[in-house]
Amino acid sequence: MKPTIYLALTHDWELRGDGSGDIEQIQFAPLRQLQKIYAKFGARTTFLPDVMQQLRFRQVESKHPELKELADSWDEHVRTAFRQGHDIQLHLHPQWLNARYEKGRWQMDGDWSILKYDREVAYAMLAGTKKYLEDLLQPFDATYRCLAFRAGALAAAPSDHLFESLVELGIELDVSIGGGVFVNNQTLQLDYRNCEEAFLPFYPVMKDARSVSTQPEPIVCVPLNHFYGSRREVMRQNISLVRQQLSQRQKRHEPESGSKQTVRSSMDAPRSAIGAAYEKLILPTVKRKHFVSDTGRLNYPLLREMLEAIRERAEASGLSKLPVVLTNHPKDIRDIAAIERFVGDVSQADDIRFITLTDVAQKLRSGEFQIRSAQ
Ligand SMILES: [Zn+2]
Repeated sequence: MKPTIYLALTHDWELRGDGSGDIEQIQFAPLRQLQKIYAKFGARTTFLPDVMQQLRFRQVESKHPELKELADSWDEHVRTAFRQGHDIQLHLHPQWLNARYEKGRWQMDGDWSILKYDREVAYAMLAGTKKYLEDLLQPFDATYRCLAFRAGALAAAPSDHLFESLVELGIELDVSIGGGVFVNNQTLQLDYRNCEEAFLPFYPVMKDARSVSTQPEPIVCVPLNHFYGSRREVMRQNISLVRQQLSQRQKRHEPESGSKQTVRSSMDAPRSAIGAAYEKLILPTVKRKHFVSDTGRLNYPLLREMLEAIRERAEASGLSKLPVVLTNHPKDIRDIAAIERFVGDVSQADDIRFITLTDVAQKLRSGEFQIRSAQ
């Protein structure tokens, strides 16, 4: 029998990691576009707003009235998504702590990884952001709870205190562990290359969620899905991306490195065009390319490959039903039409259902979804 895959579409909804970006263009507009697509196919999904960003807007808005207007609009977008049936859960970029707003720009010196903050400071950030969401949404649904978490830049392990703090605050579900992710640059160091479980829900070792606990724990990790794209489709997507970037650069007459355009995601550091071309065009011909399953950064053929990889792994698990978590960064969506086609395909598939993170947590709690522990 084919397993039933409960697909949780999630979205890290935020400005760029350095605080740059036009909030209307890279947050509000893509959120509205996605909502239209999901409404068309009856898909309920989960938005994970970076609430540290919003707290910082609120903390300085009395001095900068223009920020108050944007923060109010942020609230309104989140409430609208919630009233349309989407789930809202917690995402947190700690670099917003103490960010300064000067001459219309954000300046931030804070570390990008919550793992680098001590227990008290990290706990206060988690508690404050969780409370913000509950205060915002409980007036519409008294049963709403913030119970799921994704760390900014996926930085969730190892840590002496992060998972203990999450549990203390009532968080039951973590969706930060992206198998195969490896980042080692000035901004961030993260090594998920040897995670013990990168597909199925599991009980994490509390001080290092890269390992599976030998016993039930008060929190469950559902890994952020990843897969390896075929050489053919990876090459095709990369050639078109490099073309796009070159033509944008020519239009703007901008220098190659250190410019804003080379910092394309919250996890990338600036690098040279030649380095980027090597990574994009040469490396994938040597080995199949690792992808975090991000529906905003994959073209349609790669989205299909991702789905097939998920089906194969689901079948190999021997389970009759299981949750799978995908991500999306609305600020980086490359091809909204591909997302629409993908969501349409999934809505027609008889072996896949959409699910929110709140419903994933409920099915983990009830035992409907199995949770792995180490033998
Ligand atoms: Zn983020």
